[in-house]
Amino acid sequence: MGRVALVTGGSRGIGASIARALKDKGYSVAATYGGNDEAAAKFTEETGIRTYKWSVADYDACADGIAKVEADLGPVEVLVNNAGITRDAPFHKLTPEKWREVIDTNLNGVFNMTHPLWPGMRERKFGRIITISSINGQKGQFAQANYSAAKAGDIGFTKALAQEGARAGITVNAICPGYINTEMMSTIPEKVMNEVILPQIPVGRLGEPEEIARAVLFLASDDSAFITGATLTANGGQYMI
Ligand code: NDP
Repeated sequence: MGRVALVTGGSRGIGASIARALKDKGYSVAATYGGNDEAAAKFTEETGIRTYKWSVADYDACADGIAKVEADLGPVEVLVNNAGITRDAPFHKLTPEKWREVIDTNLNGVFNMTHPLWPGMRERKFGRIITISSINGQKGQFAQANYSAAKAGDIGFTKALAQEGARAGITVNAICPGYINTEMMSTIPEKVMNEVILPQIPVGRLGEPEEIARAVLFLASDDSAFITGATLTANGGQYMI
């Protein structure tokens, strides 16, 4: 059996591509989701990948859920923190609730998932923590003070934890996708896509979820042992750092 990989928000979008790619590489994969039972059931039916429902925003639910995954598949060696939400609003309309929801899921969720797995990874002297941040955590985005703060927080978390994991064989890295062709993008009007979004992307197209999945495969592999604390941008040249 291959290593065990756990992908949060792995039932749809980018996470689903990541889960599929890991499975194709021989990993034993578990995918979590937050509420959409129908999408999760369809995903399991199509891929054979087990799905587990809990909110990454709830620490105790994460600890319990991880225990269940480990009982089913064995110790988790690769964690992909992918689950994320948006609750966009310009700051003068940003409610405390929208602020909290996004911070709880996109930033606290990363702590809640990583913390229960950390002792086991340290004991076994191997781990891969890969967090899907965002270009908007690097450069900020109008109407996304909550999202940009959480995603920038994920990068700080990654850099700090990489230092703690280094001697224990645990690498901690972040990937910052730009615009990726997921369900979310298909709701954008064609005019906005062609006249506003695409001109901002030097390669002239959206990224595909599989392109993020391939970056995850690399960071999860034994070959990437010397890469830790890194922020990998995958945005078609939209924001160069
Ligand atoms: P989707 O909305 O397509 O899928 C999100 C996934 O996360 C779903 O499986 C969803 O579960 C799950 N999820 C949401 N909230 C929770 C929660 N509280 N607990 C557990 N699972 C949860 O997202 P994308 O594929 O578009 O995005 C994936 C990641 O990539 C996110 O972190 C996003 O911020 C980031 N990203 C996306 C970009 C894009 O262009 N799409 C660009 C840059 C970054 P359910 O199906 O039950 O709702």
